[in-house]
Amino acid sequence: MNGFPSARSIAESIRTGERSARSVLDEHLARINERENEVHAFNLVLAEQAASSADEIDRRIARGENPGPLAGVPVALKDNLCTRGIPTTCSSKILQDWKPPYDATVVTRLANAGAVIVGKTNLDEFAMGSSTENSAFGPTRNPLDVTRVPGGSSGGSAAAVAAGFASLSLGSDTGGSIRQPAALCGVVGVKPTYGAVSRLGLIAFASSLDQIGPFTHDVADAALMLEVIAGHDPGDSTSIPQHFPSLAPSLDRGVSGLRIGRITDLPEGADQDVVDAVDAAFDTLAAAGAEIIDVTIPAFTYGLTAYYLIAPAEASSNLARYDGVRFGSRVAASDTNAMYMATRGAGFGPEVKRRIMLGTYALSAGYYDAYYGKALKVRRLMANDFAAAYEHVDVLITPASPSVAFPFGSKTEDPLAMYLCDTYTIPSNLTGHPAMSVPFGTGEHGLPIGVQVLAPAFGEPTMFAVAAELERSAARGEHV
Ligand code: GLN
Repeated sequence: MNGFPSARSIAESIRTGERSARSVLDEHLARINERENEVHAFNLVLAEQAASSADEIDRRIARGENPGPLAGVPVALKDNLCTRGIPTTCSSKILQDWKPPYDATVVTRLANAGAVIVGKTNLDEFAMGSSTENSAFGPTRNPLDVTRVPGGSSGGSAAAVAAGFASLSLGSDTGGSIRQPAALCGVVGVKPTYGAVSRLGLIAFASSLDQIGPFTHDVADAALMLEVIAGHDPGDSTSIPQHFPSLAPSLDRGVSGLRIGRITDLPEGADQDVVDAVDAAFDTLAAAGAEIIDVTIPAFTYGLTAYYLIAPAEASSNLARYDGVRFGSRVAASDTNAMYMATRGAGFGPEVKRRIMLGTYALSAGYYDAYYGKALKVRRLMANDFAAAYEHVDVLITPASPSVAFPFGSKTEDPLAMYLCDTYTIPSNLTGHPAMSVPFGTGEHGLPIGVQVLAPAFGEPTMFAVAAELERSAARGEHV
């Protein structure tokens, strides 16, 4: 959509020998050289390592081998995905010098499919944020308008694809961190069903919510990349031992006969341009043969509150390991307790500290039932409400983000305003259901709008059928 070739066409041209993997890589590195200074999508560009992977792909092609579905495709990885011997920082000072001893399962799967890893992308520290302004290494800028944020927390991964620095990238989504930046950067972003993609080697933020997923130029590339990374992994106890459905057949299915839900009690707060785009999406799907059905999901409204207790609670536990002993750059002090405090005080930024304090409070004796326990009950109600809605519909449509990309600094002084970015994305993390953002027209300042498609667990085939239909209609100009 933004003029860059699809990963499918890149892999095809490399497999057929029409192009070399090295020339494709060089083209991407040239774009990085040209614009990375202003965009700052990466914490680390792996130019040399990528060149040797690309050369290896070219040697395999010359030997008549097939390197796989992503042969020679340049891919960027969010810097909370472990890469063996290569710094993995979570955009935090506390992990600045850390090199993981192993690759995340998704990294191994990408390499086995022939992908060329070009670098590690910037994020909000430990994936906490919606703008990438919380990175300890400086913000990422939106390639479509560098005065505005790319969204977050996977802002670097979204920007890398939108700027043509990589053909594909991976992010992680705990409360919307793939779908919201995808919406703000005008690319496709998918949060798969919880357990569909292995979390082994994803540095944990909130383990019961975290899921890895793709950023791509189009829906078919997202299907391809998800098929590569999904599937059971015995190394992740929450990985589902079920065959991941094939997505390619869904792409041309259309939406005829599908029942598409409109949530009548969706929380307010989306800007008018976003509301209009979502209305246009319903119109175009109805015109393509879908039936639009009104449903209610009363618990939707409480998702944000429940998330901002559950996610910090899990984070406070997960981040306890950065103590300067097992993990984390140590700050020396007179005794062990002083060392812990100095290490954590210097190593974590303000948002991470806020989350740890919130989570510790919510879990503490005397408050556990009132806060964490109550949030878990809301999570249960959310699951019940979605299950009831899915008795009547196949997918649901909502905005992905309440607004288009916003200017730097406009929400940094008010954490609650930043948290409101997650209103429409959080429920799918609480239920574990898949959801994706697909570009659908533009709003204020000509900036892209993402429409979110939500489906029940392992409903990815239908979700992709609907997203592909929206993409076709957007290409025909049937949006607002
Ligand atoms: N913006 C949300 C948060 O700050 C979501 C982050 C994420 O999905 N990693 O927690």
